[in-house]
Amino acid sequence: MKNKFYITTPIYYPSGDAHIGHAYCTTLCDILARYKRLRGFETYFLTGTDEHGQKIKEHASKANKTPQEYVDEIVSKFKKLWELMEISNDDFIRTTEPRHIKVVQEMFSKMYKKEDIYLGSYKGWYCTECEAFWTDIQAGPNHLCPDCNRPVHEETEESYFFKCSKYVNNILKLYNDNPKFCFPESRMHEMVNTFIKPGLQDLSVSRTSNDWGVPILENKKHTAYVWLDALTNYISALGYGSKDDGLYKKFWEDPNTEIIHVIGADISRFHCIYWPMFLMSAGLRLPDRVFVHGLLRIKDEKMSKSKGNVVSPFPLVERYGVDAVRYYLSREVTFGRDGEFTPEQFVERLNVDLANQLGNLLNRTVSMIIKYFDGVVPAFKSNVTKFDKEVEDLISATIKEYEINFDDLKITEAITTAMNLVNRANKYIDETTPWVLSKEGKQEELASVMSHLANCLYVSAILLSPVLVHQSKGILDQLGVPEELRNYKSISKLGVIGNIKVNKGDQLFPRLEVNKEIEYVKSLMQSK
Ligand SMILES: [Zn+2]
Repeated sequence: MKNKFYITTPIYYPSGDAHIGHAYCTTLCDILARYKRLRGFETYFLTGTDEHGQKIKEHASKANKTPQEYVDEIVSKFKKLWELMEISNDDFIRTTEPRHIKVVQEMFSKMYKKEDIYLGSYKGWYCTECEAFWTDIQAGPNHLCPDCNRPVHEETEESYFFKCSKYVNNILKLYNDNPKFCFPESRMHEMVNTFIKPGLQDLSVSRTSNDWGVPILENKKHTAYVWLDALTNYISALGYGSKDDGLYKKFWEDPNTEIIHVIGADISRFHCIYWPMFLMSAGLRLPDRVFVHGLLRIKDEKMSKSKGNVVSPFPLVERYGVDAVRYYLSREVTFGRDGEFTPEQFVERLNVDLANQLGNLLNRTVSMIIKYFDGVVPAFKSNVTKFDKEVEDLISATIKEYEINFDDLKITEAITTAMNLVNRANKYIDETTPWVLSKEGKQEELASVMSHLANCLYVSAILLSPVLVHQSKGILDQLGVPEELRNYKSISKLGVIGNIKVNKGDQLFPRLEVNKEIEYVKSLMQSK
């Protein structure tokens, strides 16, 4: 049983400002990290920026800045966004940091000494945007980049090459032995059919044409290819190869650590094929899974190649709160599939799920406990009304299903499971009609309904806490849940909430005026 967890976002390329596509990926990783911590796993969560390469140099010179000045400025914006989104990363790695640079050089030397890297020259179809060479077959008759669809051009360059052919069979065996290594499954098929079967070329791992990169110690004319450089961040951040390598030993080397890389589809080839090859060559352990999340589109535009249809997360968070945006991102688009951001769905999701379901349940429950029991949650008794048993069974089933989904990285399904319990509790109010029970003087039944509702809310608030980082606490505050019960272990026992005093607080989940808010979100989309 793995008892430690290491999760990484891609390191973002700071060629433009951080947008909601970045926020999407990082927020979902944050939710996974918070879930694992909630479950008691020792967890390490890494994000960062990929700062080398010709493109950065070009962007910097256009902005009249040195590359370092240019990346420093953008990196500070990324960091601000993570603060805004309440991202709980343990570290932020930058590939321009000395601690990273020396690990890239060491990786190169290790693979070179193993004779997996040789000097050659390359002629091929080169995509400047992706900084990638393509074969005739891959570039096709129209000479287009298979990744970004831009025109490619023929180029020759002295370069070091990594012997991919030596490891192709190991990669196929890796996929075969670990069907979820590259996930969703369709991505693994894509790796095999699009890249491996047509014949994987040896990978160029150095450049002589780019001086904004990590110099290769064996030959200073060369800098490391940006992908060799970037991928190494996952171990350089842990102190691999340094005297201070405690984190590396704990979160990479230790087989009891589950290692998850979360990435976007456009970089799956590098993570699912080349990164495991580099690690094999260097004799290092492989990650457990590479999870490819889908694209969050705005009006059918790919956000990562935005052409104006960008929504900045900053005004969204300012107006609706960070929890609402986190909830929307994790609930609206099933993690692993493509989805769309539309103002209509955004507003509806917040209204239907948060205001009508969760907010309503909280308000009704707290108000009724104040009205009928002077604000004290009655002690829990099992199976008093004829509807109790079903709710009790659902609480236990929900916790189980939530764990199964989350452990399999099915974030959206896990959250849906928790929300189903909320919906069921609302239905339970309609079924038991507490106002009738009160009128008829059925005190025992009324008490049972109140304690079941309080317990449903309590369990839901804990289960939703990786997403709703403030509001879950707000729910527990209004219920009057003592600190010692605010943990995952406590919810496993049915009916622990009782004899506590509720506090009616502020409205946590305000109902939105649909048309007005849709217009507001639309204005954000147009303003850029
Ligand atoms: Zn391209």
